[in-house]
Amino acid sequence: MSDDCLFCKIVNREIPSEFLYEDDTYVVFKDINPAAPVHLLLVPKKHIRSINDLTLEDGDVISGLFMVAKEMAREQGVAESGYKLLFNVEKGGGQEIFHIHLHLIGGWEKK
Ligand code: AMP
Ligand code: ZN
Repeated sequence: MSDDCLFCKIVNREIPSEFLYEDDTYVVFKDINPAAPVHLLLVPKKHIRSINDLTLEDGDVISGLFMVAKEMAREQGVAESGYKLLFNVEKGGGQEIFHIHLHLIGGWEKK
């Protein structure tokens, strides 16, 4: 928990948010400013500042995040049509919230 972290506050329900998924390790909620019809944020409950701050002990948390992503993609109906999984890393990489999160983005119109 980091006192001034928005996502820690969401994880701890200090800021209301609707979770599409929650277990002991992760929460998933919709991005407030979606870049596509489906845009979820998959957030470990543990406060990890960025990919640059990962340690070996975070390995299970990160690999598990991809299992949650696979399941959420299926639930959102984009598993077959396809989607993007994205970590923004540090300011230059577009990271705005310094609590690690995986973007799941998809659901574009089929052409
Ligand atoms: P990043 O730029 O990778 O740090 O992504 C942060 C994301 O969090 C952005 O896509 C924002 O739209 C999103 N965001 C910011 N505040 C909230 C919030 N209160 N609830 C949901 N998503 C948020
Ligand atoms: Zn945090």
